[in-house]
Amino acid sequence: MHPFILERPRDLSAALALRAQSGRNDAPAEYIAGGTDMVQLLQEYVRRPERLVSLAGLLDNRIEVGTQGLRLGTAATMAEVAAYPAVIEQFPVIAEALLNSASPQVRNQATVGGNLLQRTRCPYFRDVGYAACNKRAPGSGCAAIGGENRWHAVLGTSENCIATNASDLAVALVALDAAVEVRGASGKRTVPLIDFYRLPDATPHIETVLEAGEVLTAITVPVSPAARRSHYLKVRDRASFEFAVVSAAVALEMDGARIHHARIALGGVGTKPWRVPQVEAALAGATLDPAPLRSAAALAAQGAQGHGHNDFKIELMQRAIVRAVEIAGARA
Ligand SMILES: Cc1cc2nc3c(=O)[nH]c(=O)nc-3n(C[C@H](O)[C@H](O)[C@H](O)COP(=O)(O)OP(=O)(O)OC[C@H]3O[C@@H](n4cnc5c(N)ncnc54)[C@H](O)[C@@H]3O)c2cc1C
Ligand code: SF4
Repeated sequence: MHPFILERPRDLSAALALRAQSGRNDAPAEYIAGGTDMVQLLQEYVRRPERLVSLAGLLDNRIEVGTQGLRLGTAATMAEVAAYPAVIEQFPVIAEALLNSASPQVRNQATVGGNLLQRTRCPYFRDVGYAACNKRAPGSGCAAIGGENRWHAVLGTSENCIATNASDLAVALVALDAAVEVRGASGKRTVPLIDFYRLPDATPHIETVLEAGEVLTAITVPVSPAARRSHYLKVRDRASFEFAVVSAAVALEMDGARIHHARIALGGVGTKPWRVPQVEAALAGATLDPAPLRSAAALAAQGAQGHGHNDFKIELMQRAIVRAVEIAGARA
């Protein structure tokens, strides 16, 4: 285990001041919330901060559902959000994404803020025995390209990194046009979640638009008719305690037997949660019959590129979209 000093600031301003002294990633000081991801990375020497700045007790943990939509304080745990009756009723895709994540023990400890900022599960990133990983050691290369890449991305990749974003919650939130509230030493701002994550391009170690020291304080989800008729479909190698091979978050607004408006985001296939507007457009006016769903879902493959072991994901993500739309469409 990498040794560190644990800082327990009295309030958020003190936490921001401590963290602002550091850079973006692999900095001398890092935040820790539930610790379920951070501690694993410290144990494996993947992250080596001198100080951990605890966010415990400093951030809002309220879950609020009102006429404007849903607001989650980022200190709320995954378990609390998944069990909240109004979330289950009005935003089922969020509750389902969370219940299909990790284990009950992890969900009880992990915060939703930490979930959005967990690091990739690329095995080469998480094993310092591999020298080549541009995300962990910028400029060192990418062991996954040409290596074992069954778990890796087919969309949004670059020649420098093909790692997927691991958060199921982020996929559901992107489908619902969620935003995050961010606070830093220079004030507050709100960022649409779709713009929050960066593509790897030439700098895969910079994963979000967060500036040094900024903290996530809340997640907001606008109210919409589609949110009630939503579903999260997760395909994984075992039924629990496993990350997505492919996932599809779908929210539908229906007009009788036809889809009026669809919102679809994919997980397990992109270097960030992946919205597919071309599929959404093709579904407008479609019935829930298999043929129109399949031809719309085929458009998700636009721009997809396999790397050998993960080629199967291009077909699997289309099937996941079809099944998720069928399930969401059958909801009352
Ligand atoms: C065995 C196992 C299985 C898992 N399976 C899944 C799965 O299927 N699906 C899934 O989505 N996830 C899964 N996870 C990941 C899990 O959901 C995350 O570890 C967890 O959500 C992280 O939350 P945390 O509060 O523990 O964050 P921490 O580990 O404390 O922090 C994670 C990162 O976020 C930063 N951070 C935390 N909170 C904030 C904040 N408010 N503002 C700014 N930075 C912050 C920290 O600095 C750190 O970089 C799994 C984890 C484990 C251990
Ligand atoms: S895919 Fe990204 S995280 Fe994985 S080895 Fe390559 S650079 Fe590192």
